[in-house]
Amino acid sequence: MKTAIYPGSFDPVTNGHLDIIRRAANIFDKLIVCVMVNAGKHPMFSLEERVALIRRVTEDLPNVEVDGSSELLAEYARRRGSCVVVKGLRAGSDFENEFQMALINRKINPDLDTMFLTSASQYMFLSSSIVKELGSYGAELTDFIPQAIIPDFRRRLEERTRQTP
Ligand code: ADP
Repeated sequence: MKTAIYPGSFDPVTNGHLDIIRRAANIFDKLIVCVMVNAGKHPMFSLEERVALIRRVTEDLPNVEVDGSSELLAEYARRRGSCVVVKGLRAGSDFENEFQMALINRKINPDLDTMFLTSASQYMFLSSSIVKELGSYGAELTDFIPQAIIPDFRRRLEERTRQTP
C-alpha cells in the first residue's frame, strides 16, 4: 500500500490545497495531510483547529487522514512508513524553496522522495496569506476557500479585529 504525505501550514486550507488533496488521493492508496508546526509563522488558527477544518472539508474522501505534527517532516514520514511527500507547485514562487526542501528531506531520510503536482491554473495565484489579506477587506471568498469553513474564517477575522482595533 502506497501512503503519501501532504505537509503544509494550511492556515487556513484553501481551494488550491483541496485540489491537490483530491488529486493526490486519487493517485495514492492513502494520503496523510499533515499540518506542520512552523516556528517562524504566527498562525491564525491553532494546529488542532487547522486539523479540524481540513477534516471537515475532506470528510468525503475515505483514504485521506488528517494529522498534525511538530516533528521534522523527514522523521514524521519515516515514523508513518511513507516514502513519498506530495507538494503543490505554483508557477514561479514555489520552485526554489520546494527544490531545496526536497533535497534536504532526502538528505535526512534517503528513502524519502518528493513528488510535485502542478497547481490547477485557477488556483495558481492562491495562497493562505492572500486569503487572509482579502478576508480582512471583507472580500467575497467563495472562489478561494471551501464554503464549509467560511463562517469559521470570518469569525476568527472578527475576533482578531476586536483584539487589535
Ligand atoms: P501557503 O501558506 O503558501 O498557502 P502551505 O504551506 O499551507 O502554503 O502549503 C502547503 C503545500 O501546498 C505547499 O506544497 C504549497 O506549494 C502547496 N500549495 C499552496 N497553495 C497552493 C495552490 N493554490 N495550488 C497548489 N498548491 C498549493
